Parts: sequence; C-alpha cells; structure tokens
Amino acid sequence: ETRDKPKLWFDGEIADADALQADLSTHAMHYGSGVFEGIRSYATKNGAAVFRLPEHLERMRKGADLLGIAFDAAQATEAVLQALRANGHRDAYIRPLAWVGAGSFGLDVAGHAQHLMVATTPTLVHLGGAKARMTVSPWRRNPASSLPPLKLCGAYVNSILAKREAKSRGFDEALFVDERGFVVECTGANVFIVKDGRVTAVEHRDALPGITRDTLIALSGAPSRPVTLEELRDADEVFACGTAAEVAPIAAADDRAYGDNPIGRELAALYARTVRGEEAASQAWLTPV
Ligand code: PMP
Repeated sequence: ETRDKPKLWFDGEIADADALQADLSTHAMHYGSGVFEGIRSYATKNGAAVFRLPEHLERMRKGADLLGIAFDAAQATEAVLQALRANGHRDAYIRPLAWVGAGSFGLDVAGHAQHLMVATTPTLVHLGGAKARMTVSPWRRNPASSLPPLKLCGAYVNSILAKREAKSRGFDEALFVDERGFVVECTGANVFIVKDGRVTAVEHRDALPGITRDTLIALSGAPSRPVTLEELRDADEVFACGTAAEVAPIAAADDRAYGDNPIGRELAALYARTVRGEEAASQAWLTPV
C-alpha cells in the first residue's frame, strides 16, 4: 500500500489527516451525537471494490435521521471512493463518521454545526487470526426501546464496557445475553450457531442488523430465529460475523469449548470469495473504486 501521508475526506475535501483538528466543544465528543459505519473494500481481479456500500450508507442514514444530521448518500458514496483513491488503498477498512459539531453544551442539537468525514486504513483483522474465546457479559445490550441498534457513537460505550470486562477476565470477546436467556450478539459482530449440520442466524431485536449476517443468510439460506444461551452451548459450532471480523470461528463460550468447525470454515471461505468478486452473487454487491 502507499507510504504517503494518510489522507481523509472531510466536509467535501481531501486533506492530510494530521492537518485536521476538531473543536474541543464538539457535541459528539461530549454526548456521542454521531453515527458511523464500518465498511470494507477488497482488491478484486477487476480492481478495488467496496462491498455492499449502499446498504452500509442506508444504515448510516437511519442513524443520521434519528440525530437530525443531514445525510446525502450520493455525497457519502463519492466521499468513500475519493478517500480510497487518495490513499491508494485497495484492501481497506473504511470509516465514515457524521457528527454534531461545535455549538453550545445544551443537549438540543439544533443550530450546531454538522460534519462528515471518511477515513480509510489498510485492512485490520478484528478478532485476530486465532479463534476467539468469548464469555457471557454481565452487561446487558442496549435495549432497542432505549437506543435503537444502529451505529450511533454513544451506543458503543455499551460495547466498550463489555469488551473491557471480558478482557479483564482473560477472554477475547463478550457475548451479550438478555435477561430471559436469549443470545443478542457480540460487541461488534453478530452470532450464528451450527447444530447437526444446520446453520442458524441468531435473531434479536437489540442486535445490530448486520450486513455480513444478511450476506451469510443470502449465501447459505440459513434461517434466522431467536436462540437461547443454552442452545448456543449445545451447538456443534459457533461463529461471529461482521464487516471487520468477516466470519470468525469461536473456540469457546466460557467453559464450553467447541471443536473443529467444518461448516463455519466452509462459509468463511465462501464469504471470502464473495467479497473478492469470485462468486456469481458478488457482482450486485460490489461498487468499483
Ligand atoms: N453488531 C455490532 C454491535 C457491530 O458493531 C457490528 C459491526 N458493524 C456488527 C454487529 C456486524 O455488522 P456488519 O456485518 O454490518 O458489519
């Protein structure tokens, strides 16, 4: 990848990342009043392409609408493509962020400045190469009735607390379970289980409607339904999935260790080919850079 200084797209222009600063009264910094996305581009044989860009930007628009942040998907699309081109990135993680800027310290966002940026970084692997060990979090997921499952900045404090707590006990990842014993999701990924050769997507109203999850359902025909922790512990395989994590096999959930994961591995390989444009389903999902 390029060795030039990292560039990003900010409010309509490409700039050197280190030349930009945010005002310390930025509303989003105090209250989490922003919305972001996590998107990936891949080097395909026809050049770099962004995977499911319109779907990611549509989810971002929903968050922006809730916060009263003006959001133009056509502008955001251009911003993503320009940031990738400016950095010469092909396999990259793409981070758009729309936020409420400087103004008063009041909670009313009306009258504040609004901003949009897009940063890109050469791809980083979310859960690492080794299989992740997860633990049931003592924290509950933000309930959808309090905070809708969108990529609102402030909502991620919930994931940060769960991640910190899991790591403090020597685990890699936290699993959110609701008060009735149903699995919700991980801190930054959705969950699937495999039992007797059948793949099931965990469904929960408090979980982010993941685009990777949707892709895997489309590729595998897996049904989506609520799953209890008991059922997850009884499964043959468990995997987490997300844009950054892709399809990540889980080694253990607390004291329940999972063995080999042939079906998860097969789906991971199918997903890897799909995002790189090597499957028939790929073309409709890729935006050329
Ligand atoms: N859940 C949470 C809480 C997340 O942050 C993410 C990552 N965006 C996911 C699930 C997976 O979503 P996606 O497949 O759209 O990246």
